[in-house]
Amino acid sequence: MSESARGEGGRVWVPRTQGDNRDPKSIPESERWYFLEEWYPKYGNLVPRDVATRAIFKVVYEHNLGIDGKPMVYLDLTHIDRKILDKKLEGILEIYEKFVGDDPRDTPMKIFPGMHYTMGGLWVDYKQSTNIPGIYSAGESEYQYHGANRLGANSLVSCIWGGFIAGPSAVQYARGLQQSDGNGYFEAERKRQLEINDGLMRADGSENPFLLWRELGEEMTKNCTVIRYNKNLQQCDAKLVELLERFQKINLSDRSQWANTTVAFARQLYNMLQLSRVIAQGAAMRDESRGAHYKPDFPDRDDKNWLKTTKATFAPDADEPKFEFEPVDVSLIPPRPRKYDVSDWI
Ligand SMILES: Cc1cc2nc3c(=O)[nH]c(=O)nc-3n(C[C@H](O)[C@H](O)[C@H](O)COP(=O)(O)OP(=O)(O)OC[C@H]3O[C@@H](n4cnc5c(N)ncnc54)[C@H](O)[C@@H]3O)c2cc1C
Repeated sequence: MSESARGEGGRVWVPRTQGDNRDPKSIPESERWYFLEEWYPKYGNLVPRDVATRAIFKVVYEHNLGIDGKPMVYLDLTHIDRKILDKKLEGILEIYEKFVGDDPRDTPMKIFPGMHYTMGGLWVDYKQSTNIPGIYSAGESEYQYHGANRLGANSLVSCIWGGFIAGPSAVQYARGLQQSDGNGYFEAERKRQLEINDGLMRADGSENPFLLWRELGEEMTKNCTVIRYNKNLQQCDAKLVELLERFQKINLSDRSQWANTTVAFARQLYNMLQLSRVIAQGAAMRDESRGAHYKPDFPDRDDKNWLKTTKATFAPDADEPKFEFEPVDVSLIPPRPRKYDVSDWI
């Protein structure tokens, strides 16, 4: 479901009593826990998504109050007039109805936070050029504009503004070229890529790339999403090294030369493993909390030491990422703390 449901007045709640599996509509108001409204009275259900996400995790995993003992809470729109809901949220409500079978205009929706964007990506300059001349990046694939938490409209900036700049920049670059690859870079790279494909096609080890991929997903979800602890991040990186070693022993289920999606999958898996190391190691280094990067052991934002961009480059010889940091230009808008608790409210 979209964040817009909270924006339009959706209320998030769980039954106050563990194991209360009554039909939500029959649970009286006094037996419902509107935890966002209670914890953040000034913003209520409109707290930003990282704050809402952590609250939902707390309710589900620490208070054990997920609906029916499962990781779910109610997102309730039933108090809003049907006509307004249809006008403002029809698209997403139809999706819910289609997949779950309940009409969210009558029955509270069951939700849990999901992963739906990446914060961080390819480094680019103001022309959207990466550090590789001739390669441009715009949108979710690049690192700018996500802010603390990719709130609504950030992706518009990154896709539309970034694309608006990247396209003409690429044309300008191509027009400025004196010759087309007189140095034979293209042929050399084509040969290297074909060798990688051939190597994968010949691989006859014992590891299934699809199972490695699932293990990777489970590991990253557990340790690199909502709450991060240094010890777990270090263990996570060790697990990633293990998965990379096992990747060397994969066996492809499909060896056909035509439309072989398993080769493409295996290539992407290798990239995902390397990128996961960037995420895990980068998070381990950053001893602070900033937006969606939340470390209970370092709960505050630390601008003195960490108001900077983490940059990783791939060191092929070492087969691992190398890190450096770049200061953030805050000359136009000085950063200030985000405050949502009523006690912090000025
Ligand atoms: C449910 C949901 C809610 C979201 N809410 C927000 C939000 O509130 N705020 C926010 O900032 N972001 C949000 N996002 C993320 C945001 O939607 C994305 O960051 C944004 O749409 C990415 O746009 P893009 O053009 O960069 O990439 P995409 O839209 O992913 O486009 C990439 C395109 O490249 C194509 N492609 C891929 N591989 C190849 C290939 N090899 N050859 C040719 N084409 C290829 C794909 O088919 C696709 O069309 C949300 C995402 C989801 C799923």
